[in-house]
Amino acid sequence: MIALKDVDQLGPDEAVQELARLAKEIAKHDRHYYQKDAPKISDAVYDELRQRNTAIEAHFPDLVRPDSPTKRVGTRPSEGFGKIAHTLPMLSLDNVFNDDEVREFTKRVRRFLRWPEDETLAFTAEPKIDGLSCGIRYEHGKLVQAATRGDGQTGEDVTQNVRTICDVPKTLCGDDWPDVLEVRGEVYIPTTEFAAMNAAQEDAGKPVYANPRNAAAGSLRQLDPGISAKRPLRFFAYAWGEVSEPLAKTQYEAVQNLDAWGFSINHHMRLCQSADEMIAVYELIERKRATLGYDIDGVVYKVDRLDLQTRLGFVSRSPRWAMAHKFPPEQASTILEKIDIQVGRTGALTPVAKLHPVTVGGVVVSNASLHNADEVKRLDVRVGDQVLIQRAGDVIPQVVKVLNPDREGRAAPFAFPTHCPCPLSTPAVRELDEKTGEAGVITRCSGEFACPFQRVRRLEHFVSRQAFDIEGLGKKQIAAFFEEGIVTEPADIFTLKARNDDLKLEAREGWGETSASNLFAAIEERRQISLERLLIALGIRHVGQTTARLLSASYLSWQNFHSAMLAAKDRMSEHFIQLTALDGIGDVMAVAIVNYFAEPHNEGLVERLLAQITVQDAIPPKNDSPVAGKTVVFTGKLIEMSRDEAKANAAALGAKVAGSVSAKTDILVAGPGAGSKLKKATNLGINTMTEEEWLALIGN
Ligand code: AMP
Repeated sequence: MIALKDVDQLGPDEAVQELARLAKEIAKHDRHYYQKDAPKISDAVYDELRQRNTAIEAHFPDLVRPDSPTKRVGTRPSEGFGKIAHTLPMLSLDNVFNDDEVREFTKRVRRFLRWPEDETLAFTAEPKIDGLSCGIRYEHGKLVQAATRGDGQTGEDVTQNVRTICDVPKTLCGDDWPDVLEVRGEVYIPTTEFAAMNAAQEDAGKPVYANPRNAAAGSLRQLDPGISAKRPLRFFAYAWGEVSEPLAKTQYEAVQNLDAWGFSINHHMRLCQSADEMIAVYELIERKRATLGYDIDGVVYKVDRLDLQTRLGFVSRSPRWAMAHKFPPEQASTILEKIDIQVGRTGALTPVAKLHPVTVGGVVVSNASLHNADEVKRLDVRVGDQVLIQRAGDVIPQVVKVLNPDREGRAAPFAFPTHCPCPLSTPAVRELDEKTGEAGVITRCSGEFACPFQRVRRLEHFVSRQAFDIEGLGKKQIAAFFEEGIVTEPADIFTLKARNDDLKLEAREGWGETSASNLFAAIEERRQISLERLLIALGIRHVGQTTARLLSASYLSWQNFHSAMLAAKDRMSEHFIQLTALDGIGDVMAVAIVNYFAEPHNEGLVERLLAQITVQDAIPPKNDSPVAGKTVVFTGKLIEMSRDEAKANAAALGAKVAGSVSAKTDILVAGPGAGSKLKKATNLGINTMTEEEWLALIGN
């Protein structure tokens, strides 16, 4: 063996060579260790290589290589994770659970595309890996950034951690990749490695992970990449985000390209020409499930042609061109120990089954929702019963049935409470269904603004991830602040710092100087908030992310939206009609929104909050399109495309698609057979055009 020169004897040229040699050598041993689980050298020798590398880098900081092993392990980012805004959102997938729904999905796609009945339409089918998704960005073939999905718009910067994953190339193979390539896929932990890792955790007296997916998430989201590096993380590439050039013409070819560029792809992916073939692949993959070596929770189908994927586009949080076919739920039996009543943010009383903990599908379950009073009655679940429970993927566990209803000495039927379990014990009422006007299933606490349980839930919702997302202010802190009367409504959050001379947060239990000042900084950061997030945060009944996004894109500014909602109190007003005309806002929702702002209690709450924050205007979508911001209504039969595609297309160009004609309508696109809408539009003097004229206008 050649004796190595002491580090302080090395000249710059020798250092360059030595760093290159060490980078290669260490990478080789990493592959043996992480990928093949077969180290060729002892830990001590491996550590020596690393130490030498670190020492040379300390001597020659300018010579540190971009692929240096020190960038892969042991460097601790100074604080939390940075945030990365996804250039293209990372979406979720819609789910189906049976064959009929798969057939319906393919039919829906064909209808949208107006696909001829006698022509086949290809789909890919591949395992749905049960890990966490990650987007990895390459520029000029080099890995530059990696982010978790986060809320779909913004993820965590896990670049250093992803660099430690053995089957993620740091440099792409070949040379035909686009200069900008964001590869997306799943980070996971193989099942055998998971078992070994948990055993080691247990031996070390550390907490074990419930399942490989949690373990993968916990391992990737480590502040110290050195810990991630020691975990058996793997990556399957199956999709992409921003690309400077199209990857291929089809999904199938694009994934083969990812393979050629050095990624691990899943070899169980198949190309299918019909729903029957898709279902056959699903059944095959399901049979292989136990022997794959990694957890999967279903099969994903994707329209193969990428141009068709573009035409199909997205609906709120998931693409129209893909579908997850989930495996059937896993079941287990256990004892029902108690039925608790939880109070939600809208006052709904939800019965929750408290179960003797049992493992279902790899996760320990001790709670299951019983939904409402009718469901408790239907199941006739009673304390002490043995119950069958099930869970499918992320779905909240459910009670399926009682297994021993005829046993002796069974408890009395559960008496659903007539009062809220909150300290005020406000009467709970079974309300009418807003849509049908008949007795509904929800029992609601009537103390809307007084009930402390509801108030806490609303505050929790206010700071939740899709809303204000204030770091360091979670359920625990909200509960404590509320109990002490420090935060009783949203505006109070923003005055915490100003009141801190009295509050002395840093001196409270569980707090210190750093955590208090971090919290104040996080709150400060959120003083500027998007209209969409604010609308989610207010917790208006029926207004979730999709509606908030729609409202924000339609009204663009808080002032505009707020004054319109106040004016819409008059149901005959143009403002109310305009609100209900928005595609996606029904009457019940419109009434809930208008009622929220008409309620004096909310008026004060909103006013105090708005005095503390600045609401950023929404950016009008695609300003350059001639139909951006215009309200468009489609009526009659369309020839060139389906109604759904026409609507989706218009929305993508920034138009507001409405379902009915009003004075606010800018364009009516009328096909053959148009009736009353056309008449009304003509009477109102609205710009009316044929489908052909519309297509010419949008340059299609
Ligand atoms: P869900 O989070 O249940 O809505 O499912 C959507 C997620 O499935 C995506 O965000 C991906 O993380 C994950 N996924 C796993 N395997 C695949 C696959 N083969 N294709 C697409 N998504 C997948």
